[in-house]
Amino acid sequence: MKSIFKILLITAVALIIIMLAKTFMLTTEPVNRPDPIDININTDLVKNRLSKMVQFVTVSNQDPSKFDAKAFDEMHAYLEQTFPLVYEKLQHEVVNGHSLLFKWQGKNAELKPILLLAHQDVVPIPPEALSDWTHPPFSGLIDETFIWGRGTLDDKASLTGILEATTFLLKENFEPERTIYLAFGHDEEVGGVEGAAKIAALLKSRNIQLEYVLDEGGVISDGLIPGVDRRVAMIGIAEKGFTSLQLKVNAAGGHSSIPPKHTAIGTLSQAIVDLEANPFPANVKYSLKFFKTLAPYMSFSTKMVLANTWISKSLLESQLSKSATTSAMIRTTTAATMIKGGVKDNVLPPEADAIVNFRILPGDTADYVLAHVKKIINNPKIKVTPTRVGRNPSKVSPTDSDSFRQIATTIHQANGEGKDLIVAPYLVMGGTDARNFEDLTPNIYRFLFNETTPDDIKRYHNTNERISIENYVKVIRFYYQLMKNSNTLG
Ligand SMILES: [Zn+2]
Repeated sequence: MKSIFKILLITAVALIIIMLAKTFMLTTEPVNRPDPIDININTDLVKNRLSKMVQFVTVSNQDPSKFDAKAFDEMHAYLEQTFPLVYEKLQHEVVNGHSLLFKWQGKNAELKPILLLAHQDVVPIPPEALSDWTHPPFSGLIDETFIWGRGTLDDKASLTGILEATTFLLKENFEPERTIYLAFGHDEEVGGVEGAAKIAALLKSRNIQLEYVLDEGGVISDGLIPGVDRRVAMIGIAEKGFTSLQLKVNAAGGHSSIPPKHTAIGTLSQAIVDLEANPFPANVKYSLKFFKTLAPYMSFSTKMVLANTWISKSLLESQLSKSATTSAMIRTTTAATMIKGGVKDNVLPPEADAIVNFRILPGDTADYVLAHVKKIINNPKIKVTPTRVGRNPSKVSPTDSDSFRQIATTIHQANGEGKDLIVAPYLVMGGTDARNFEDLTPNIYRFLFNETTPDDIKRYHNTNERISIENYVKVIRFYYQLMKNSNTLG
């Protein structure tokens, strides 16, 4: 008996030693920080141009009949007039009526091109929210610190920033070794089917393979990640998919004085309760690299859990499930977003239906979500059908590619002597245009050099969207250096 205790004790001590060793071995990766960026940006000029871009009401509506082609045409005319060098030196074409594609021919045809992606369209302003805006959403008002308006963050800072950076390089007579494509879709906010998807199809029809694609999606977190006080550049390496399912119950109507045990509304409600009570299984796999990169900067206990996922995976997953933000990073999420049913207070509802939206984790599929939901609800009275064609999650891009490393290096370069910055691969919760390019390259990354606080993040797709002038200048610097660095890639 004694010897069993002895063995157990030795095993426990050995286990603790291994866990501690792994925790201490979890160290930060060395930062490669080459020359600082040498560029002099005329702040007044660039802020006014972005402001002007915001004033074109290039809204994407779910209803395609509301599409305002004139706003896009006028914005294109403005771009041509404002960035004449780009239009003169780069080949440009309009794709599917409103999307823009520029090609900056590289000297070495052997090298695969890179592609910088942004979108021209913005989300609408709900009429009831209009009065909450400090400045009218399409005014592009500039104050001491900010450029205000719809599209400043999403995504006109990126689009205009890329063109500003290109202009700088052209003025310096920079000659790219590899071809650089600039692609600006016009319907990202409603799925990108007519814009980015058509651009990708066009390039594919020309047998073009790309080194990498860089789109929006990740930002520089300044306090967005609980427990991490450093700033974190989050490079999106994958994005979740989505599907919406309708749950529908039909029942006999009639007078409410002699009701059945469950009305259509009651049956439907039970199904929603069941779905919320049974979240999709957690899988930390796609966010593990993110958390492990941050681990050295976290508390010792968190670090220990992260360093020992060989033994603590389920503990980690249950910890991460506690916050909505981290839970969304490790599972397909469930959100009941719409419900209707009933006609009168004393009439049994003949019908009730609800819409539940799911954001699908890589590894899961829209078909799996449908099957899983039916299994959880397990009630033949409830009809479950997709409301529209869902979108499966994207592929996961590598973090050990030269492209990823170069983007990371450029981020450090753009950060310069600024505060400490961690670069971490990240799973993007929303959708971007980038996924359309999966046939052209495995290296698809999503990042905008924009320092974002918890207050800033709320402004995306929301009231009082704005970007600081300081941040916008950094966006330009980043793209400038990224294109310059492409000459030494791979
Ligand atoms: Zn966007």
